[in-house]
Amino acid sequence: MRSVGWWAGLRTVDRMTGTSATGGAFETLAGLDAALVDCRACPRLVDWRERVAREKRAAFRDQVYWGRPVPGLGPPDASLLIVGLAPAAHGGNRTGRMFTGDRSGDVLFAALHAVGLANQPTAVYAGDGLTLRGTRITAPVHCAPPDNTPTPAERDTCGSWLRAELALLRPRAVVVLGAFGWRALLPVLNGAGWTVPRPRPRFGHGVHVELAGEQGPLHVFGSYHVSQQNTFTGRLTLEMLEQVLRAAAASAGL
Ligand code: SF4
Repeated sequence: MRSVGWWAGLRTVDRMTGTSATGGAFETLAGLDAALVDCRACPRLVDWRERVAREKRAAFRDQVYWGRPVPGLGPPDASLLIVGLAPAAHGGNRTGRMFTGDRSGDVLFAALHAVGLANQPTAVYAGDGLTLRGTRITAPVHCAPPDNTPTPAERDTCGSWLRAELALLRPRAVVVLGAFGWRALLPVLNGAGWTVPRPRPRFGHGVHVELAGEQGPLHVFGSYHVSQQNTFTGRLTLEMLEQVLRAAAASAGL
């Protein structure tokens, strides 16, 4: 297992190339993902993700939980990036794949499929045949947090991974699911070659801002998160999400 000492090298990731000063460990997203799954930089989250994986939910007691950081999902040349919050304790933390095996994912993948960005409307387990078209899904925090609530320090620590991911992917459009992701992403974009105006744009469903960048503009869209609190209450409907995804896909050239 890689050490926390290795993690310290990530803090010096070059924002344009995604490579680290310690030897170019991140020339590809695959390399970054492979390193990410061994990260133990946040003691509270390491403890929680592993405890959940040991104790399990009764319905999944026969399954082997992933119990590690959950890497991004989607092709390495994706022009559209979707940014959530963090893996669910019994969803991504169980299956090892973003938004896979939980109710939030049921809504997200149904919408992605409806607008032609996913080959199937469901995501049940890693290896179920799901593929995304021109789209990658990631999170500002890659480990499941207690009560779905990372601390600001954990968000900032994991922001180094997001910064490296953005430097390698260079997307043309981003859909941010929820205010937490919005607040986490904007400072990272500012440090990754795009200009975020002051005061920073406010989060809202359907908000669309275009950021100037050293390698071209970035279209950033806001959407309410696909959490059950939003989808069960009707605050976010499938149609509302599809509308944002369609607009973002068009901005991303998909
Ligand atoms: S939340 Fe991010 S930085 Fe913290 S342990 Fe998980 S992968 Fe590492």
